Parts: sequence; structure tokens; C-alpha cells
Amino acid sequence: MTDWQQRFDSRIMRSIGMPLAKLERGDGAWVWDDSGKRYLDFLAGIAVNALGHAHPVFVEAVSAQAAKLAHVSNYFTTEPALELAERITRLAGAGDEGRAWFGNSGAEANEAAFKLARLNNSGGARTRMLALVDGFHGRTMGSLALTGKPHMRDPFEPLPGGVEHIPATIEALEAELDDAVSALILEPIQGEAGVVELPPGFLEAARELTHRHGALLIVDEIQTGAGRTGAWFGFQHAGITPDAITVAKGIGGGIPIGGLVTFGRASSLYTKGQHGSTFGGNPLATAVANAVLGEIERADLVGNAARRGAQLRERILALGSSLVAGVRGRGLLVGVGLDEPVAARVVAAAMDEGLIVNAANDSTIRIAPPLIIGDVELDEFDARFGRALERVAAA
Ligand code: PLP
Repeated sequence: MTDWQQRFDSRIMRSIGMPLAKLERGDGAWVWDDSGKRYLDFLAGIAVNALGHAHPVFVEAVSAQAAKLAHVSNYFTTEPALELAERITRLAGAGDEGRAWFGNSGAEANEAAFKLARLNNSGGARTRMLALVDGFHGRTMGSLALTGKPHMRDPFEPLPGGVEHIPATIEALEAELDDAVSALILEPIQGEAGVVELPPGFLEAARELTHRHGALLIVDEIQTGAGRTGAWFGFQHAGITPDAITVAKGIGGGIPIGGLVTFGRASSLYTKGQHGSTFGGNPLATAVANAVLGEIERADLVGNAARRGAQLRERILALGSSLVAGVRGRGLLVGVGLDEPVAARVVAAAMDEGLIVNAANDSTIRIAPPLIIGDVELDEFDARFGRALERVAAA
């Protein structure tokens, strides 16, 4: 073990596995480790660094706001918080009734959504909440209760109750949605499950059935939001209007922030004093999120995600690797399905080649680069990923 590995091993909680490298700095789509080795970062901190690393807009926003006012608590509001609520409700198309609440992470955003579902109880008649098998919504007790992965949940039972996990099929929706359901929560593309898309027509059917039964449709846009899939939010590809979305990751571009955005009648479910957070909506995080989202808008990085995502898919398939079974996902959220369970070996070979990608599961490589990538980054990716695949195929 190296010195940092020993220090990690002795002092960091064992809930986190040994990291792939100790990183020191970044610039655009590149990061450098403590030995000076350079990597092309096609994971972006798991779909977070939307503008890449050390983007001048991000640096300026952090610096300027930190020098002015960083934290005030919920007893006060600030211009950045008001502006972010207005901006995110506009981008989500939440209309005149749209409202936003801000916290500090994706899990917290989903906690707020879970509580929202509980408030949609029709005088206690709605005792069920639905989520999808294999869905991932976070690691806190509430968000874990929504998560459809038994191996993550089991050690922590009992979790908050009333949540049922159904398969992502229209038949299951039709069979399970009834007037006792308070809400259905789902990801438009299941990122942690291995970039798995919902079946065609699923979101539309979910909208229709939740409407019919008075249940909320809550879309977890934590990984798919902020332009990553080539739309501001993943649900927009389906042309539906949800009752609420949760956001985090890319909206802060690297500053911790999460949020719940409500539409229509869902905006009046929370009443005074029912939810809050000391840090949530602080001027530092909200100013940075405004700057990041503002830059995504100004530079049309949503369009770039759509265009570059299509090119990335073509290039991966054009590598012609015998290991690649297919490519999933949308925009710059890409899952490369492998024919064999060798994802961890591909990731290790890629690290060797100076490329950061991620094994979402044994046979899927997840790719989620910064939204700023262009021809140079795609060429570099091509060469490095191609070599990594060749090495694993040859072994
Ligand atoms: N929901 C989805 C869809 C996610 O991908 C994640 C994180 O990967 C979360 C929720 C949890 O977010 P956080 O890690 O910020 O708590």
C-alpha cells in the first residue's frame, strides 16, 4: 500500500472502499493525481461536474459569494436563493404554482420528496408508496427505503414503511396503482442500476395512472437533471408533467446542493414548519448553482450533451470491441453493456490509460463526462477507452 492508501485504510470509515487514486487538481475534463499523472475524467464525480473542473464561472461564483455572505439559516432569505427557486422552477416548466425547497444532497432531496408523499394522504387513506425495483434514491433511511436494491437495504432494516418496489413494466403499473397509493417515485433512466432506460411509454402510463388515482408522480432527476440527457430534465423527453422532481449533483456543478421542485397542487402540500435544513438554500450553494445553470443555458450545454452524446455512442460502437454488447442511455449519460462481467477490469485498465470511467455493475461501464466536452476530449476518450478494452479482451 502507498502512504495515502495506508492513511485511508486506517482512518476513513470502512463504508467506503479503497479509492482508485488520490486526486489533487483538475482543469476542464482533466484531473491530476498526487503523482502528477493526468486522467480524462469521463465520470465527472458521478454526473456532478457539469462544467468540468475549475471552470472560471464556478470559481468566480464560489469566490465572490464566499467573500460576501456564505450562510444565513432558514430565518433569512437571500437573492441567490430566490433567484435559484425562480430559475429551477422555470427550467423544469413547473408553471405559476411551481415551488422549490433546497437541501444539501440528493438523498436529502428524496427525503423531502418522501415526506411530500406522506402529506398526500387523503386523510390517512393512502398507505402505499411505489418505487421501482433496482431504483436508487440515496443512502439515508428514507431514501434507502425508496431504493429498490435489497443488498443495500437489508443490513439497515427496519426502514420507514409502506414502500413497495414494482418492476418497471406498464403491466405492473396497471396492477399496482390504486387509490391507496400516495406517490410513485422513479428515475427516468436508472443510473446506478447501470444506465437502464424505462420501457417505451412507461412514463406516459405512469402519469396517466397516477393522475387517475390521485397519486403523485415524483421523478428523481438527481443523475439525469441539469441537461445531462440532452434535455434540462429527463422527464421532458416524454412530454409529461410530473407533480415533483428531485435534483442535486449537476445543478451545483460540484458544490453540495439538492432540491425538491413541486408542480401544481403538490406545491401546497407542505405547510409552515414541516421541513427545513440549517444549510439548505444557503447563499453560497445557491449562488454557485445559479452560475452553473446560467452557464449551461448561455453555452447551450444541453444541446452539446445531446450532440456529443450521440457522437460518443457512435464512437464506442465504432471501436468494434468484442467485449461491447451495446450502448444504453441518453445524451451524456451512457452505459456500455459488456458481454462478460469484466467492468472492474475495464475500469482498472482505463485508469492505467489515463481515463476515468465507472463500473455501474459487473457488466456495465457508466460514462458521464462534463457537459463541456468537444472534439478533443472525444478523440482522447476514443484512444484511451479503445486501448483499455483491447487489453481486457486480450487478457
Ligand atoms: N438519486 C439518484 C438517481 C442518484 O443517482 C443518487 C446518487 O447517485 C442519489 C439519488 C443520491 O444522491 P446523493 O449521493 O447526493 O445523496
